[in-house]
Amino acid sequence: MDKKIFSITTMILSSVIILKAQNVDRAAVTEVHEPVPPVVTPGIGTAPPSDAIILFDGTSLDKWEGRNGIPAPWTVGDGLMTVLPHSGDIWTKQKFGDIQLHLEWRVPGGVEGGAGNSGVFLMGKYEVQIYNSFEKYIYPNGQAASIYKQSIPLVNVCRNPGEWETFDIIFMAPAFNDRGRVTHPARVTVIHNGVVVQNNVEIWGETKHIGLPTYTKHPDKLPLRLQNHSDRVSFRNIWVREL
Ligand code: MG
Repeated sequence: MDKKIFSITTMILSSVIILKAQNVDRAAVTEVHEPVPPVVTPGIGTAPPSDAIILFDGTSLDKWEGRNGIPAPWTVGDGLMTVLPHSGDIWTKQKFGDIQLHLEWRVPGGVEGGAGNSGVFLMGKYEVQIYNSFEKYIYPNGQAASIYKQSIPLVNVCRNPGEWETFDIIFMAPAFNDRGRVTHPARVTVIHNGVVVQNNVEIWGETKHIGLPTYTKHPDKLPLRLQNHSDRVSFRNIWVREL
């Protein structure tokens, strides 16, 4: 045997013998024992998991408020809340940064349903669009599940108006430096009716109807906002988990 190969083989064999002699479990070297994840009991179906913050359980708007802190002016009944046209948007009283958000929404059917326009504004600023994109055409970067005027959804998974739809949203808040510059843009993943439609998309800035989005430095946590576009869009089963 070549001298070099002999010495390498001898070295490996002697290492194994030493490790065995020291009773070292080499597989255990790469096992990590902390932190132990907290136990969360999952909900059945779309029911909230045990650590979720319930934002709307079908009975009350007490987790929400209108502009300038007035009581949330939308209507509640039959286990859902519905936009009251021209009464303004509503905000959560609690503020959030990085979150997992679940909500169910329904655009009205019939000729009086309008476009079914509403929206979920993450941190009150970054809109995931709600719209009747089953029937109505709008520029694709403004259709249901778009990041409004920024990111077109990968597919259109809308159900018939009058049927309930789900959004599961994973949102990572932006970060800013001391000079107010954005250092980490916000990112968002949207699952619409169980289908990924926005996959870890970078948000360019605050949603704007006219003009290009830009970032303005803001706190780490801000309220969520639901849009009142004066179409009678309904919501139910809204819960959130802080990440
Ligand atoms: Mg909208």
